[in-house]
Amino acid sequence: MVSESLRTEVLIIGAGPSGTTASLFLAKMGIAHILLDAAVFPRDKVCGDGLDLKVVRVLRHLDPEIVEREIIENQDFVPNYGTRFFTQNGHATDFIHREHPLFWTAKRLHFDNFLVQKINPRFTDFKQGTHVEKIERDGLEWRVFARSTNKELEIRTPLLLGADGDHSAVLHHLGQRKIDRRHYAATLRQYWQGVEGLHPLNLIEIYFPPGLPMSYFYIFPLPNGEANVGFGMVSEVVARGGHKLREEFAKMIQQDPVMSPRFRNASPMEEPVGWGIPLASRRRRAFGDGYLLLGDAASLVCPTSGEGIGTGMMSGYIGAHFVQSALKNKRFDAEQFKHYDREIYRRLNGEIRLYNLMMLLSPRIYAFGLNLLAPNAVFQWSFRQRVNGWLKTAYERPIEVRV
Ligand SMILES: Cc1cc2nc3c(=O)[nH]c(=O)nc-3n(C[C@H](O)[C@H](O)[C@H](O)COP(=O)(O)OP(=O)(O)OC[C@H]3O[C@@H](n4cnc5c(N)ncnc54)[C@H](O)[C@@H]3O)c2cc1C
Repeated sequence: MVSESLRTEVLIIGAGPSGTTASLFLAKMGIAHILLDAAVFPRDKVCGDGLDLKVVRVLRHLDPEIVEREIIENQDFVPNYGTRFFTQNGHATDFIHREHPLFWTAKRLHFDNFLVQKINPRFTDFKQGTHVEKIERDGLEWRVFARSTNKELEIRTPLLLGADGDHSAVLHHLGQRKIDRRHYAATLRQYWQGVEGLHPLNLIEIYFPPGLPMSYFYIFPLPNGEANVGFGMVSEVVARGGHKLREEFAKMIQQDPVMSPRFRNASPMEEPVGWGIPLASRRRRAFGDGYLLLGDAASLVCPTSGEGIGTGMMSGYIGAHFVQSALKNKRFDAEQFKHYDREIYRRLNGEIRLYNLMMLLSPRIYAFGLNLLAPNAVFQWSFRQRVNGWLKTAYERPIEVRV
């Protein structure tokens, strides 16, 4: 086996949406770096495949053409003009916005590859199929040991960006990959063909099933008559209630009076696949001497919606600005990154507060509140106002980063 030693000023581990976003903006700034991923793209990632307005916002900063032309013309992307919520009593409420998609859906197989195709080889040495196995601190530098099918690699760097997802090797090295069940969700995903009753405006559908607090069942429409169907529940509630996620998921599809009729003539395209979601309510310290954490590695998934692609891409954008500043100052100590946490959490604080409140309420109050709120006209009006605000932010407001 060949071995190779390299040195770089910046090393990003993980080419999911967070790491690739950091790489794309570093390249825009003219900063050379190495990007590693264990997988060879295109690769699957267990997800709901829903791209929220944060994704749109970051993509627009990369190049407005991506949002205004590329994804519209790309057959792998579906525009979703709103959301259908089913509360525990089976009542459905639609939030439709005909003027503009509020989400896009695209399989991660396609979306992540779409991003990776934009990597700029002038500034980015992208090594796919390269698995990081060991990380060591050596004075002011990191030694990262990785392996591909035919090569052993040692990379030295003063600055490491850990964007390697929920099972992060960087977190393991830092001794921080401890699951806190109160701030973690267990989930399942299954692709289906032929789910009936999908809305012509491709509404994404979210069902809060009765008797299963702090959980959601979803159906997200995809191209070619396919749908991403999934189920997630806060891990603490899973453990406390002794819930068996796979059994509950199968029951919903086969017996639930609201959901099962939709699956009568549909067929699964895979066995349900499990994965975890690290929620932002965990508030991880995402920086230190010579490193930043991005996306799932930083536990940045919005706790009320389960969306982590947009928050991860946002951390990639913000992280690139901190890297630029550290390189300018030629300093990589924690002091250089001390405002990074403030910047990544600034846009999540409201959702974290709401989640903590939901966890404080008893399941009965939670169910009662949802049943009452969703069909309420005042709630719907205020929700629409919020949606208009989100659209304005996504399409008009520059992302401000205070380094
Ligand atoms: C069932 C489910 C549904 C979800 N639905 C949605 C949704 O609809 N919308 C949404 O916004 N979010 C959703 N999420 C959350 C979303 O999937 C994640 O938040 C998002 O993928 C985080 O992106 P990331 O780039 O931080 O990490 P990842 O996408 O996990 O990417 C990490 C990358 O690091 C690489 N890597 C890992 N370890 C190593 C190593 N040792 N060496 C080299 N490379 C390594 C991996 O190969 C991978 O490419 C969902 C999650 C689940 C589980």
